[in-house]
Formats: sequence, C-alpha cells, structure tokens
Amino acid sequence: MTRKAVSIAPRRMTRRILVGNVPIGRGAPISVQSMTTTKTGDVDATLAQIYALASAGADIVRCTCNDASAADGLAQIVRRSPVPIVADVHFHYEMALAALEAGVHGLRLNPGNLRKPQEIKVVASEARDRSVPIRIGVNAGSLHPELYKRFGGATPEALVESCRIELAMFEEVGFDNVKISVKASDVPLMIEAYRQAAEAFDHPLHLGVTEAGPPPGGLIKATAGISALLAEGIGDTIRYSLTADPIEEARAGRQLLEALGLRERRSLDLIACPSCGRAEIDVVGVAREAQEALGKMNLAIQVAVMGCVVNGPGEAREADLGIAAGRKRGHLFIKGKIVRVVPEDQMVAALVDEAAKLVAEGVDARLAAADEGAEREAAADRDALVRDAGRESPVALRASVVLGRSRVPGSHAEQAGSPGQPE
Ligand code: SF4
Repeated sequence: MTRKAVSIAPRRMTRRILVGNVPIGRGAPISVQSMTTTKTGDVDATLAQIYALASAGADIVRCTCNDASAADGLAQIVRRSPVPIVADVHFHYEMALAALEAGVHGLRLNPGNLRKPQEIKVVASEARDRSVPIRIGVNAGSLHPELYKRFGGATPEALVESCRIELAMFEEVGFDNVKISVKASDVPLMIEAYRQAAEAFDHPLHLGVTEAGPPPGGLIKATAGISALLAEGIGDTIRYSLTADPIEEARAGRQLLEALGLRERRSLDLIACPSCGRAEIDVVGVAREAQEALGKMNLAIQVAVMGCVVNGPGEAREADLGIAAGRKRGHLFIKGKIVRVVPEDQMVAALVDEAAKLVAEGVDARLAAADEGAEREAAADRDALVRDAGRESPVALRASVVLGRSRVPGSHAEQAGSPGQPE
C-alpha cells in the first residue's frame, strides 16, 4: 500500500521576484542562501567559497560590499559565479551604487544602518533602473534608534514598522522589487515579527535567526525559528546564520527544506535508531561509519541503520535501504524486505555496495536479486533472539505460560517486558 503524502501548511502567496535566475515567492521553490566569509576583494578565494557553497546547497550567495576593493572584486565574481550574487551593504550608499555597477543580482540594505532618506532613494532608483531586487533586511540588534525609542525596544511591531518606512521611501521612487527580512537572535521574537510581516506585506520573506551562534546551539536555534515559520506556510528563502564554516549553513538550509518536504531530496538521508539496551552493535559508531562512506557517494536515498533485527527492519520499512544487527550478523533490507544476511563486520560495506546497485538498478531489480533464503535466515535470527531473551526473563516466561502461547517476534510491544518503543 502506498503511504499518502503528508505535507505542512499551504505556502503563503506572495509577489514573485527574481534574484538573477532564481525566482523567490509565489510558489517558487524555497531557496537557500548563505554568505561568504572571505574578503570580497580576494576574488579567487571568494569564488572558491561560492562554488563550495553552491555544491553544498546554496542557491544564492551574499558577499559583503564594504569598500572599493570589494566592489571591484564583485565585478569579476558576478561574471564567474555559478549562482546569483547579492551584495550586503551597511553604512555607505556609495557601496550599494558600486555593487549595482558591478552587476550584482540583488542588494541587501539594513534600514538601521543606512538611514538617510535621500541616499536610500538614490539607491532604490538605481536598482529600479537596473531591475535589481533589494532585500529590506531589518535586524533587531541594529534597529533604527528612533523606532527603538518609539516602541520601547526591538519589538515585532518595531521591526515591521522599520520595513514599512523603508518600503514607503522605495515607493516614492516607484520601486517595489523587494523582499523582506525581520531577523532577531531571540527565536520567539523572530517568529512573531515574521508572522506580523506576513500579515502586513505581500512581499516574499527571507527567513533567518540572526547571530544564532556556533553549532550545535546555533543550528538548533536557527532550525527552531525557520522551521516553525515554514510549517505555518511563511517564508520564501532562508539563511542559517551560524558562527561556523558557511558550508554548514548551506548544508543545513538544504537539509531542513528536504526534511520538511519543501525541496526534492538530492542528498543522503541517513536515519538510525537512537540505540538502547537491546542494540546488538555500536549503533552510533556504525551509523557514523555509514554516514561517512555513503555521504561521499552523493546518493539521494534514505538509508537506515538499526541496532537490532527484532525491531529494526519493521521500524525502518519506509527507508529505501537499511541494515539491522543481530546475532553477529547484519540483515540488509530494501523497503523493509530482507535481501541479504552478512557478517556483522561487513555491515557498512554491504550497505555501500547495495546503495550503489539500488540507485543504478532500481528497487524492483534489487528485490528480484535478493539472496535466496535471506528472509528465512533472518527470521531464524529473530526467533532465536526473542527466544533467548524470553529464557532470560522469568517474568516473561511466567506470562507466556499464563497466556498459553509463545510470543511472536517482530515488534517492540510483542517483546517480553517491553514498555513500548524506546525511539
Ligand atoms: S529496540 Fe529500537 S532503539 Fe533499541 S536497538 Fe532495536 S531498533 Fe534500536
């Protein structure tokens, strides 16, 4: 039976903008952004990082444009980049103009830092003439001081008001090619600010928890904020702001979207049980080894590593491929069906071998090529394990005598003394 796809809330409908060739908003795939950490003037180093970011999952990359050498660098970077380039401009409107002249595909302006209306309008006019979109990138930490005073702090209302004021200035010069962000490092504040922005504007929203910090805490904060909004249908493009190699940002963004079913899987999804007292192997070690070996293969499949054969294949039956341990052997399964039984020390090698064949030949062909007798051998292992466990448990033995039947292997609840699923 095919499982019905379950999806999160419908996406909020917005206007559509184009950052280079990447559409944002009005149902376009949610894009992943990251930012280079090199000096933009160092063209080769910046391009190397942009290529690495693109292959890790970034659809758009932002570079700072903070001085003349950065602007000069951008002119070369834009021409050679595999993805659209956005220039980040903070204090000097001349840098925004220089970035536009360099041919960038987008600008990010922070209303808290670039404050003079006349300068903002000059930049918006130039962007309008070149059809280049601007992100109004409001940050709780650098909110305009007047708004801070008026709202008594960096409240969600203050962040949204900052966008409204900037938009009004843009409108004065007939510019509306805009996306919006209202970031904060405080996750509940960020979530509420974006909810209010989604009510107030129909522009696409760029989501992020600013200054989330180093992983793992930063990853958790960013994921909490971004995924809460995406699950409500809010958000059109995302950026993880981590204190880490930006490759981690791009990878995390892409993985989050794949996990939520918002982007097609293009990388390995390794699932593994958390392990428990029933585990027959070092699940953590084997999962890490499998992740390393399979991660290099660029396979867009879901692979499971399960600590015991009694529950593993059943629990992970939705995985494309998996392996479960028992009685010093590994039971290799495809879509929950056992196809091979291998010695325990060959579990990872068997996964790698089968993963490559599965991708090349398809599920039906690999199920047809299953070892004869694999299901039978696996069933014998499971029966023996359950029998052994039963023998060791006086309570279970008494229970089976009272019930007048032997227990049937195959699920957590069916095992003696099992309180349920440890997962
Ligand atoms: S019972 Fe579940 S958590 Fe424990 S080892 Fe087996 S599959 Fe892993």
